[in-house]
Amino acid sequence: MIKEAFMDTVCRPYCMFYKQGQKEEMACQGLRVVKALVENRQISEESLRMGPKDRQLWAKHRKYLTVSVCDHCSFQAEDCDFQSPLFSEGMEPCGGYIVLSLLLENNRVDLPMPETLP
Ligand code: SF4
Repeated sequence: MIKEAFMDTVCRPYCMFYKQGQKEEMACQGLRVVKALVENRQISEESLRMGPKDRQLWAKHRKYLTVSVCDHCSFQAEDCDFQSPLFSEGMEPCGGYIVLSLLLENNRVDLPMPETLP
């Protein structure tokens, strides 16, 4: 189950699509990967607070995050503006993607491939 604490730490501050009371079934792959990294003790919960949103990092790590995270996300095909073929500059990824880009930039994590996640 996606704990409320993960949504408070990842979705609420970083995700422009987050809605209060959002259910676990609505969790994107980005949040699922972040949760698995914490539960597997590959990162600490404290490391999720790495600073403000940084658009340059979204682009810098896009190739890797697309293959390792977004290509396994149920929202990618129809609901994710950031990964849409109609992408334009103002569009933002989910909070999980944003946190993962910060972790990668700060060398805090080597992402597991999704098939290794619980
Ligand atoms: S950026 Fe979009 S496709 Fe990628 S994990 Fe987040 S919601 Fe899913």
